[in-house]
Amino acid sequence: MDRYTFLQRSLCASTALLAAPLMHRAIGAPHEQNIAEPVVHPFPTPGPSDLGLEQIKLPYAYEALEPYIDRQTMEIHYTKHHRKYVAEVKAALDAEPVKATNAEELFAGVSVCSPKLRNNAGGAWNHNFFWQVMKPGVSVMNARVKDALVGSFSSVEAFKEKFSSSAKERFGSGWAWLVKTPEGRLEYGSTPNQDNPLMDVSDLRGTPLLCLDIWEHAYYLKYQNKRDEYITQWWNTVNWDEVARRLG
Ligand code: MN
Repeated sequence: MDRYTFLQRSLCASTALLAAPLMHRAIGAPHEQNIAEPVVHPFPTPGPSDLGLEQIKLPYAYEALEPYIDRQTMEIHYTKHHRKYVAEVKAALDAEPVKATNAEELFAGVSVCSPKLRNNAGGAWNHNFFWQVMKPGVSVMNARVKDALVGSFSSVEAFKEKFSSSAKERFGSGWAWLVKTPEGRLEYGSTPNQDNPLMDVSDLRGTPLLCLDIWEHAYYLKYQNKRDEYITQWWNTVNWDEVARRLG
């Protein structure tokens, strides 16, 4: 267990310890007023903005990615789905102290946090990332990204095929990813729900370079049951400059 995981686990354990006397009192003394006492955090807990989990401004208009992603889907996705994750992160952090100073630290120890915090922090972060790796108009892949993809997957087309297959094969809701591993290799894969490759619970680990939202809410209005078609068309929206920037 590294030092950060140890710290994070200690913090979540301290939450359990704080909650225990309240539960005992509620069970053991029913005549007492059964009103939950406010949880006193042993240290200041960060808010969404401290962790970089506020919703970013959409970098383009709702209709900008048409015809591949329609205006109504983008608007509902951004103003309803994403906004709700961000709001719920705040509620989760109010209830559950964490000592992380940024999203990466939070995710690195997320296995000991509540499902509510994990799911909503993931939802807030993943969508911010998703909006940025798309852009309207033609985006040309630069030589560095191309070389990295060819080096890892033999060709750009082979990479796209593998990434797309991974997205198509994800059962239920989730995300597809391209990541850079700590060893500098590129890998692809998918995560369930709102998990991401920065989370210690994820099978796929690494620095995200590209992601695709494959929840039905991301495509159903336009593509209905045709998830494969959504995935195929989505490649037309990829912002390769952003991938290059994250590749470093
Ligand atoms: Mn989504």
